[in-house]
Amino acid sequence: MTKKILILPGDGVGPEIVAQAEKVLLFLIEQGKLSVKLEHGLIGGCAIDETGSPLPDETLKKARHSAAILMGSVGGPKWDNVDRAIRPERGLLAIRSELALFANLRPAYLFPQLVEASTLKKDVVSGLDIMIVRELTGGIYFGMPRGIRELDDGQREGFNTLVYSENEIKRIARVAFETANKRRGRLCSVDKANVLEATELWREIVNDMAKEYEAVELQHMYIDNASMQLVKEPKQFDVILTTNMFGDILSDLASMLTGSIGMLPSASLAENGTGMYEPVHGSAPDIAGKNIANPLATILSLSMLLRFSLGEEKLAKKLEQAIDLVLTDGFRTKDIYSKGMKSIGTNEIGDEVIKALTSLLV
Ligand code: NAD
Repeated sequence: MTKKILILPGDGVGPEIVAQAEKVLLFLIEQGKLSVKLEHGLIGGCAIDETGSPLPDETLKKARHSAAILMGSVGGPKWDNVDRAIRPERGLLAIRSELALFANLRPAYLFPQLVEASTLKKDVVSGLDIMIVRELTGGIYFGMPRGIRELDDGQREGFNTLVYSENEIKRIARVAFETANKRRGRLCSVDKANVLEATELWREIVNDMAKEYEAVELQHMYIDNASMQLVKEPKQFDVILTTNMFGDILSDLASMLTGSIGMLPSASLAENGTGMYEPVHGSAPDIAGKNIANPLATILSLSMLLRFSLGEEKLAKKLEQAIDLVLTDGFRTKDIYSKGMKSIGTNEIGDEVIKALTSLLV
């Protein structure tokens, strides 16, 4: 049976950047390189507008029947005041949780052509290649109880719960150890074990698992130090394993090492092989609809989809090479522009990627 790919553009810049990745997918299908069926669905603010829910049942049903999901981004000021329980971001958390997408892989790789785009010194970032493995369906973003309640004295109190079970820690740690094994063999587990019991257990379990992976050199780091080290000497890292919230923050930080958040893709994987692929950035409402958003994080997410969900390693590599060629030819969106380069829009970057891919597929 032909595999299905579900496309969820979402809000803000989502539709513009996902359109570029979809163009690439359609090109690969047309060229006979890929046999998949594309479906579309609603998620986030646009889904609230149409159906009242940030994750309509129909979207979830389609997602459950798809081999992979390609997503844009959700949210924006238009929905900032809707009821907390149906905010656009809740749709995203719900699909991750419903599909048990517990392993979030966020590569932070600096294309050598973009060394000037990073705000950090050339020698600090050149050659940077880090993989952040973030736990995605547990921790403080999902822990219960949560809410805002009124106290006896009339003032309000906000509360969340940080909770991790042994099994949740074990399954994400396994992904990180396996990833480190296939890369340069170094794993840094980031926690706050000196203050938070949930991550004290995290550290204990990661240490236990290290016995199964003798070839991997394991190190632990507190989140505050890790944030500093990522800016000070980022190339010391190979694979970083961390919790949901710490991974959320560290990967945005890592994005600036690579020049722009518009360059960072991600894959969220379930144990049964389902995967959802999306750029690390949000819906960027400040630049939405202007044809200036960088679509490369989304196109790189498509390359992860080809690799992890469709087993198309060769096509994934070709797509990465095509992006490399586009950057070598000097094409840049505004966020990664530097003097002497050719500034072009979102759509045009998509076209250039297809041109480069055409030359590589002959
Ligand atoms: P953001 O990532 O949307 O934007 C941060 C900054 O990065 C902005 O200046 C934006 O213009 C820039 N930027 C982001 N993507 C870019 C791209 N592709 N090309 C060029 N520049 C880009 O974060 P934010 O402003 O904090 O959040 C905006 C909305 O997105 C909020 O509603 C937030 O909840 C939501 N959000 C969604 C996701 C997601 O869908 N996965 C993730 C984070 C934030």
